[in-house]
Amino acid sequence: MRIAFLCRRCYGECHARPQEKGVPVACRSCGTMQPLRFTRAHLTGNRVDRCAVCNREDFYVREEPRKLMGLVYLLLGLGLAYWTYGISLVPGLLGFDRHYRRFPKLTVCYHCYAKYRDCRPDPEHSEYDLQFAERLEKEIRNDRTMRDFS
Ligand SMILES: [Zn+2]
Ligand SMILES: [Zn+2]
Repeated sequence: MRIAFLCRRCYGECHARPQEKGVPVACRSCGTMQPLRFTRAHLTGNRVDRCAVCNREDFYVREEPRKLMGLVYLLLGLGLAYWTYGISLVPGLLGFDRHYRRFPKLTVCYHCYAKYRDCRPDPEHSEYDLQFAERLEKEIRNDRTMRDFS
């Protein structure tokens, strides 16, 4: 599993992998330490049950953009086949297979947009739900207005 998330301070992209001790990852652009909380499922099951960045449990899955790269490989292989007597089909098909078949889905956190790659998809996570995202946003807004008045 690989995690890509945004730095809490400068919004630069940070990358991490689950580690037993949950060592904080330093942002490459501003050096701020990013505390991450890993669960059993992260460490041993290669599954995402809780966000390691914001500790919430709402996720959606979407197609991995790399899947498109697989198609590009395939088309390149097909296109070059005419000049290379079919030899180019071999790397084309291999590239297609590697990109398309292994973990084609990406798991994304609704709250902090952390992306989880190369993990086993959770059947409970569904495609992006606009209504659910709107409800979350409303909750955040309500929370803010209430705090302003108190
Ligand atoms: Zn940063
Ligand atoms: Zn999150």
